[in-house]
Formats: sequence, structure tokens, C-alpha cells
Amino acid sequence: MNLQLTPEQVQLRESMARLFREQSSSARVRSAEPQGFDPALWRQLCELGIVTMRVPETAGGADMSLLDALLVAEEAGRHLACVPLAEAIVSARLLAALASDHASELLQLVLTGSRVTLLPVPLDQPGALLVPGASGAATVLACRADQVLVIDGTTLSGTLSALSADGSVVLNAEDRGRLQWRTLASGNDAVQAFVAAVEEWKLLKAALLVGLSAQAIGLAAAYSCERHQFGKAIGSFQGIAHPLADALTEVDGARLLTWHAAWAIARRTPQAAALVSMASWWSGQSACRAVARALHSFGGYGVSLEYDIQLYYRRARAWSLQAGDPQRELDKLADRLWSPDHVVPLPDAGEMPLEFGYGAGAEAFADQVRAFFRTHLTDELKAHAHHSVDGYHPAFNRQLADAGLLFPHWPKAHGGQDRSPFDMHALQAVFEEFGWQRITAPITNQVAQIVMRFASEEAKEEALPRFARGEALACLGFSEPSCGSDVFAAKTRAVQLPDGDWKIDGQKIFTTAANLADYVFLLARTNTEVAKHAGLTLFLVPMHLPGIEVHPVHTLQDERTNITYFADVRVPDRYRVGAVNAGTSVMSATLELEHSGDQYRLSYANMLEHALKWARHTLGDYGSQLEDKQVRRRLAKVAVHTTLAQDLCYRATWSVVAQAPDRAAYGPMSKLFSTEQYHRDALDLMELCAPHSLLASDEAAGLVELGYRQSIGMTIYGGTSEIHRSLIAEQGLGMPRSRT
Ligand SMILES: Cc1cc2nc3c(=O)[nH]c(=O)nc-3n(C[C@H](O)[C@H](O)[C@H](O)COP(=O)(O)OP(=O)(O)OC[C@H]3O[C@@H](n4cnc5c(N)ncnc54)[C@H](O)[C@@H]3O)c2cc1C
Repeated sequence: MNLQLTPEQVQLRESMARLFREQSSSARVRSAEPQGFDPALWRQLCELGIVTMRVPETAGGADMSLLDALLVAEEAGRHLACVPLAEAIVSARLLAALASDHASELLQLVLTGSRVTLLPVPLDQPGALLVPGASGAATVLACRADQVLVIDGTTLSGTLSALSADGSVVLNAEDRGRLQWRTLASGNDAVQAFVAAVEEWKLLKAALLVGLSAQAIGLAAAYSCERHQFGKAIGSFQGIAHPLADALTEVDGARLLTWHAAWAIARRTPQAAALVSMASWWSGQSACRAVARALHSFGGYGVSLEYDIQLYYRRARAWSLQAGDPQRELDKLADRLWSPDHVVPLPDAGEMPLEFGYGAGAEAFADQVRAFFRTHLTDELKAHAHHSVDGYHPAFNRQLADAGLLFPHWPKAHGGQDRSPFDMHALQAVFEEFGWQRITAPITNQVAQIVMRFASEEAKEEALPRFARGEALACLGFSEPSCGSDVFAAKTRAVQLPDGDWKIDGQKIFTTAANLADYVFLLARTNTEVAKHAGLTLFLVPMHLPGIEVHPVHTLQDERTNITYFADVRVPDRYRVGAVNAGTSVMSATLELEHSGDQYRLSYANMLEHALKWARHTLGDYGSQLEDKQVRRRLAKVAVHTTLAQDLCYRATWSVVAQAPDRAAYGPMSKLFSTEQYHRDALDLMELCAPHSLLASDEAAGLVELGYRQSIGMTIYGGTSEIHRSLIAEQGLGMPRSRT
């Protein structure tokens, strides 16, 4: 995974941001609304070569990449640019690709500033058709059967779209009958070039919607810091902050999907066409939710025409409906995912500096892990396997360690192989594939990483080799009966004795794996005289010490966790982790490790696989359930969400590795989306597979039911969704804190 744009792309984005900020101001957008077109902005974009940026140099363009075009489109969307930018960029490239003299002549006109657009659906599709940006455009391109057609847009008679104010023209059947289209090119190559142009248009439109939504959320966040009610900035009310945090997460996801699709096109991966559909559908859905949430933050002023937010609210829907009902894109997505012979022509993406996925090294490592599981996962182990910590098997854990498959990302000095975090993601995915529990090792890893950074040399020397050899486990002792979300209110008391040892008394709850663990990573209060954040210290407490008792707590996820009691437990000072009363900073490092969301999104993706298996093997009205359009749509939606969860998760991991400056909210976004959407989709898939999903079973629909029970717990542990939303609002949008 690599999301680093090149310096030239950063510069392009900045210069476009400046251009649209200045030349597509709110006043300009408003004055262009009646015609749906800003001629001065158009002239400037033509002069700068933006309209022809995707045309090959040999044909007079700048031959820039698809990603470059996405960056430009996002900035245009941010400022609601009143020009048919997406349409013109792809049409200009299409004209260059069509081998006809007439197409070349038309391209020459575009190069000198003439307006061009295209109809993004087949001309013979029944019902009304919308031609984006057609009003006043000199050239309108369309496709019917094996022909690419053209018409002079100034002769188009249709109705102007009410919401879009971007010069879109709606053609009803009567209007269409009267129009005199001419053939521009015919044959398979021409049609394929047209279809590829439409796929590119969908991505550019998705980027426009991402820009629009991000700006709407930003406007709402800024307003929520200024506007006061009940003596406070309204941004400090979670009713305002949390919906914006959800919106920001969804829109960041839309940008990632759009870039992911461009990357997949550039690398010619088999999922490329599916990713275009995903980005197209999701950007529309997320934009419409984002603008509604943003407008709501303005209260009554939001609907007043004086406020700009209403422009965003209107445009979001208009832009996302231009190709008709977005549900149809889900039908296409289902075909692209599950009909193997379905081939879609795609554009040439050009240079692509980004990387999505684990990378080839991690894929090879995953094969190594797979081979290990195939050889070593005996029938006895398979019978022992369980998704919870009950599936822990000490001997197999040591075998994994011996094979270098427990903590391969650790430094060599601590028994690892210095592998990347993406190798670890790949490894975790294989554990999920083979149904092997992914709880004890990640928790132990989390503790060990902190021990490496903050513990005493003696504690490191004792615990780390034991963890590395697979001989010891750790558990997390943060939550207490009286405080979970407010973790810094911990009451478990640690008092230093004259000989330097600590005496610990208190209770921890939900100490998962405490019944198996050799150490508990314990948060304790060491100073009661200062503010709650300032008086905490962490300890790596050996579980065999006298005074510790572990009692089971069983959950509806078919999982055991624990309540753990500490009475007069004497802990030598060498087990202290970090300075006395410096627990808050040690905890922050711990929580960053917990938030990337990999553990959640893998279970989520697995649930979709089980639902697909159910659909393939269950009879419905039209053969298997997977042949039913409604079933396909529902599963396709979940496929978008699981891809998005993966992108958000990988971004969180990449941002830590790359030390990306704006990364603070990325982990919380990943955790929030992977768990909340998992739970919503589990509800839907339970319904889809009913009544099979009510039967206890360890396959297909039965495992969808497990997803239903697991996902609700996931929205709670590792920090609840509310806490994550607050973190996103504060760190991603600069909104006021709502917690003390
Ligand atoms: C299966 C499971 C395993 C777990 N494993 C571990 C573990 O290994 N180690 C460990 O230390 N902990 C563990 N936990 C505990 C978990 O981290 C806490 O349950 C979680 O942080 C919530 O704390 P709480 O249960 O006390 O709920 P509370 O904090 O009391 O929250 C109750 C409700 O109030 C909401 N709420 C609280 N504060 C706010 C706020 N400021 N704004 C808005 N809403 C708020 C919450 O979102 C929640 O909906 C586990 C929990 C579960 C369910």
C-alpha cells in the first residue's frame, strides 16, 4: 500500500485548488446557475490544457494520467465548478482515440475551446435520457449499437435539469425522435473506446462528488465551531459531531475507492471494472448522506438560499443521478464480480505511483503461511479450532512461532524477521481463511510492542523471548467495572512500598484471555491527588503472582472473557512500563496499535464469503439465489462495503508506516466503519438468508448468524463507536472535544 502522490501531483492539486477557489467562488457559481455554465472558467481551463489533459501529446494534449484527472476533478467538485469538466475530459480523449477525420476535426475544435460532452448511457436505452453539460455544447457524443454518434449540442431541445444547474439536458422519447445524429465512427473498436470513456467518466464524476462532499463537511464543521447554542459551540454536541464523523469516514472511503479503481485499471487487475462500479455507486451514496448531514448542522439557515450549503445539497443528488438509477450500477457490479465472462473495456490509466493491496512480497508470504496450515492443521486441531480465545492451542502456538509465523514483523533482535505490517495483514487473512483464531497473538503483539518501547530491560529480557517463542501470552487490563470508555478514570490502585515494589488492588473487567495469559498489561492509579489523566501508570503484571483471581464472563458471541481481581498483589518495580504517572502517553501508543481495524474487517469479509456461498448453493425463484437480481444487489452492496473497510484499514496501517501527517483519525475511521457497517450488513444478510440464518451451523448461513452476534460486540470493544466518532470529529475535523 502506498498513498503518496508524486511532488508534481501535489503541486497539481494545490494549483487546481487555488484556481477553483478563485475562479469558481460561491458568487461565480451562483451567477452561473441559470445557464449552468461559467464561460470564463471554461476558457481558463481550456487555456491551461485541463480539458485536453488526457489527450495524447501526439494529438495535441498533455497525456496526463487518470489519477491526475481525478485530482483535478476533486478540486473542481469542491468548488462546484459550473463546467462539464468530467464529460469534456473523457470526450476529448475519446475523439483522439476514434480513427476518423471527423473526430480529428472535432478534437481540433475542442483544443481551441469548443465545448464537448457525451451521453453516458446507450442512446437506445428506454425512457428519458440526461446529457450532462449539453446545453450550449457544440459537440455531443453518444453510442448506439455498433456506432458512435455525434450531434451539434446547440440543436438539442430538451428540458433543463432542475437540480443540477450544470447545463444538463433531459431528452424524453419525443425529443430523441426528432434529433439528427450523425455517425462519427462504427465498429467494435469505436464502441469499445466509447464504453471505456464512460467508465472513466464515472470515476471522474466520483472524484467530483468526493470533492463536493469533503467541502460540504468542512463547511459544516467550521460553522459548528462558530455557532453557539446553550452557551456552547454546537460542534461540541455529539448530535452534530458524530454524523459529520460518519460522513468524513464515508467520503474518505469514496476517495480511496476511486483511487483504488484507477490503480486497478493501471495494473490491469481482474477487479478493475468492479472497482469502477464500486467507486461510482458509493461516491453518490456517501455524497448524498454527507450533504444532508452537513446541511442539517446549519439548522434553519441550511435551507436558506443565502447559505452555500444548499448548493452542495442540490448538486450532490444531481451529479449522482446523471446515469439514471444508481441501483443499476449495483447490477453491473454484480455482473463484474460474479459473472466471469463479463468483460468491460477500460481506459488506459497512464502513470500510477500509488499501490493498493499487500504487495507481491506479502502475497508470497501468505502462500508460505497457507502451505504451513495445509501441512500442520491436523484434524485434531481443526476440531479444536474456535473463533474465540477458546481456540488457543499452546502447542500449535509454539509451532507457529518455530515456523516464524507468530510475530514475523518484529525486529530480528526480538526474534522476528523485520517483515512489514502488510505481511502481517496477509498472515492474518490466511488465519481467517483456515478458521484459526486471531485474538491471542494480536493482543500479545500489542502488549509486546509497548514493552519493546517503554519497559525496563529486565522486563523485556524476561517477557519478549517468551512471547516470541510462543510460550507466553499477554492480556489487556484497562476496563474496570466502573469505567470502560472513560478508561483514564481507572481506580485500580498501585502504591509503591518502601522497598520499591508496588502493591496493587482493584478489579478489571473484560480482560479477554486473562484465563490463558502469563501477563496482564495493567492500567493503575498511582496518584490520586492530580487530574485523572495525570496519575496513571502501566505495569506488565505476571499472572502467577499471589492475589490475582480470574473469573469467567461469557458473551453472546460464544466467547469467554473475564473479570480479574487484584488483592494485595506485590509487583516488583521492574514490571513498571514507562515512567510513574506517564500512563496516558503509553496508553495513546497502545490505542493507536489497536485501531487499524484489521481484525474486524477480516471477519466482515468472511461473512460476505459465507453469504455468497449460501446464495450459490440455495435455490431461489430463478435458479440459484445468486441469479436473483435483488439478491445480487444486496450482496454487491456488501462487497462495496468490505472493499472500503479494507482500504480504510490499509490506509491506517500505511499512514503509521509512512508517518503521514494527517493520520490521527485514520485508525478510528477504519475501526468505526469496519464494525458499524459490518453490523448493518450482518442484519441485512441475516434477513437475506432467513430462515437458514437462524439455524446453528458452522457453515454458510450459520456463519452469517455468527457475524450478526460478533459484529455488535465489535462496535463496543477496542473503544465504542461513539468514542471513535468523537476522535474523528476532533482529529479529522478540528471540532471541539465533548469528553472531559
Ligand atoms: C467481548 C469484549 C471483550 C473485551 N476485551 C477487553 C480487554 O481485553 N481488555 C479491556 O481492557 N477491555 C476489554 N473490553 C472492554 C471494552 O473496551 C469496553 O466494554 C468499552 O470500552 C466500553 O466500556 P463499557 O463497557 O464500560 O461501556 P461504557 O463506557 O459505560 O459505555 C456505555 C455506553 O455509553 C456510551 N458512552 C460512553 N461514554 C460516552 C461518551 N463520552 N460519549 C458518547 N457515548 C458514550 C458508550 O459508547 C456505550 O454505548 C472488552 C469488551 C467486550 C464486550
